[in-house]
Amino acid sequence: MDDCIFCKIIANEIPSYTVYEDDVVKAFLDISQGTPGHTLVIPKKHVPDLFAYDEDLASKVFARIPKIARAVRASNPTIKGMNVLNNNGTVAYQSVFHSHFHLIPRYTDDDDFK
Ligand code: ADP
Repeated sequence: MDDCIFCKIIANEIPSYTVYEDDVVKAFLDISQGTPGHTLVIPKKHVPDLFAYDEDLASKVFARIPKIARAVRASNPTIKGMNVLNNNGTVAYQSVFHSHFHLIPRYTDDDDFK
């Protein structure tokens, strides 16, 4: 989609720090690091939100999330847990309308992050 910032990241028209990439998804660091290592997983196909997935795409994208979560966790031994967050709709605080899953590493006593 022409005016989608995440489609531009997939097309390498906007820089990003890639964590993982294959034919179905791209994972890259969130520009606003909620906690260190905060990563976004997005489908390469433009789908605006969770409601727009068909079963085939959902099975492919969702199946990749645990592997990427393990890779993020393995990058830093002080990561002790992780929140996976997916906002859908403005009322749910979605601000970029290309579906994405936040992987937010959690650290002992990182209570500044809510
Ligand atoms: P929210 O802004 O409330 O977190 P979303 O769930 O839609 O809403 O998350 C969009 C995320 O995309 C934000 O965490 C934001 O920091 C991130 N983001 C926006 N632009 C970029 C970019 N160019 N590169 C990496 N992350 C980005």
